[in-house]
Amino acid sequence: MIVGARPLVRMAPEAAEAIRIEAARAYPAEGCGALLGPAEAAVSEIVPLANAEASMPRTRFTVSPLDYIAAEDRADARGLKLLGFWHSHPDHPARPSPTDRAYAWPGLLTLVIGVERGDPGEMTAWDVPGHEEPFRQLDLEIAPRRDSEIALQKEPT
Ligand SMILES: [Zn+2]
Repeated sequence: MIVGARPLVRMAPEAAEAIRIEAARAYPAEGCGALLGPAEAAVSEIVPLANAEASMPRTRFTVSPLDYIAAEDRADARGLKLLGFWHSHPDHPARPSPTDRAYAWPGLLTLVIGVERGDPGEMTAWDVPGHEEPFRQLDLEIAPRRDSEIALQKEPT
């Protein structure tokens, strides 16, 4: 194992741009949405979701069960997988909070984007290796999809 190497998440430039637009639009509240893709760690598109936490939209986000189901249906209809969720941190760094940890679970990506005075900034990707584990940061690469590499990421059958 290479010291310092972190698992890589690749995101299509169109998906990254859509997150920046949605995060800026939601400011000063948190924006959030689902991450869809053809394979694990390959995000190809996003689904914007309403922030269900109406009482504290600046400081936390909650994805409603109906939104979760809608995101899964959307993924199925597009032949994609629901890979996780993104949300924005208005005027806070792109680091997940203890509340974020409470809503994260193994197998799903957590992507956070900082929005400074309305301008979308740093984007970071995280996952949780186990139910009791803290967040682990992942390398995030914004790059066009390359099918040959995605095929290599498929799990053996
Ligand atoms: Zn957060």
